[in-house]
Amino acid sequence: MKSRGWALIAAASVALGLAAVAASHAATAAVRVMKVRLGGDVEQTRIVMDLDQAATGKLISDGSDGRAVLVLSGATALSDLQGGAQGLVKDWLVDQTGGGARLQMDLAAGAHIKRRFLLPPADGIDHYRYVVDVALAPTGMATQTAAPPVLNLPPPVTLATATAAVAAKLRPQIVPARTTTLTLKKVIVIDAGHGGHDPGAQGQLGYEKDINLAAAKALKARLERSGRYRVVLTRDADVYVPLESRVRIAQRAGADLFLSLHSDSGPEPSLRGASVYTLSDKATGRSARFVSRDDWFMKASLTGDRGVSDILFDLTQRATRNRSAGFAQILVGQIEGKQTLLRRSQRDAGFMVLLAPDVPAVLLEMGFVSNAEDEAFLRDAGQRNRLMNAVGDAIDDYFAESTKLASR
Ligand SMILES: [Zn+2]
Repeated sequence: MKSRGWALIAAASVALGLAAVAASHAATAAVRVMKVRLGGDVEQTRIVMDLDQAATGKLISDGSDGRAVLVLSGATALSDLQGGAQGLVKDWLVDQTGGGARLQMDLAAGAHIKRRFLLPPADGIDHYRYVVDVALAPTGMATQTAAPPVLNLPPPVTLATATAAVAAKLRPQIVPARTTTLTLKKVIVIDAGHGGHDPGAQGQLGYEKDINLAAAKALKARLERSGRYRVVLTRDADVYVPLESRVRIAQRAGADLFLSLHSDSGPEPSLRGASVYTLSDKATGRSARFVSRDDWFMKASLTGDRGVSDILFDLTQRATRNRSAGFAQILVGQIEGKQTLLRRSQRDAGFMVLLAPDVPAVLLEMGFVSNAEDEAFLRDAGQRNRLMNAVGDAIDDYFAESTKLASR
């Protein structure tokens, strides 16, 4: 058995997990999105996010396809900020993701994010502003752009001094008032494990890859019925998709949650049950005593090149890992009673597909195809749908919970 290093660590207890979430909230509260203002017209629209410190913006999508997504790395939106149409922006929302505060905008046809920049305190304004300009993409001959036009924005908040009283006044505000209903949906990426020339585990009746795909489609249907989610599958047919591509699909989609579906196999035909995996912290000191007990498990691991996953692991934010653990707990609770669970069913692992930075990610092993009862269960459409309905309920619960946290 090779040394597992950080890859296999005891499943964090509920108490530990919650403590870590609380700690990360305190630690990441450094940069806050205090307020969002919009100005401009159908020629050019400017969005200004007032920040109490400098932050770096990461463009996920420039909006050419109708939806613009930008993440302020490490920043915090203490509650969801949203508002109505202004100029080229049809709808917008600032909310919290694992990687930071995220701005999502539905844009008018032909519009895109033209430029974005951080303005340091200046001209009597003593806080940072992250500015995003939306404009129509040039048609035909390229037009020369002069200096940015002056846009009429609502007057900024004046920060007199950095006292506690002032800080209290800077609680997030909703500007303009909630005049529209929220049309932006949470993005769920469902990853059906294996596919094509990679069949996964083999049971008595067939391959893992087919069960995974059928389950992914059932979960997609369940989630879309609710009208609350946009669902992206990493594959919707029997094709081979490299692990790196699956990770990239999740990032490009601006995923709020990444769920990988697999079916297990083990050396013991009696071994059965579902289990849930999240990416663990690198607490090597704690890991050693659990390695021998779980050797059988690592046979199903997809970790691949350890060097590559170590690098990716370092990019993954602690806050994202805590969110993953939170969802994993809810998921285990919902699966209980629908499918047998392994004795310690929530484990931490270094699965490649869980390594997308900034995207909360969980891998669900739905059961063992090497166990006759589990295989029959997983190949039965009715049972499988029931299990996926439970997973859908867990996703509902997870987002209801994070909304509650955000609005406290
Ligand atoms: Zn698998």
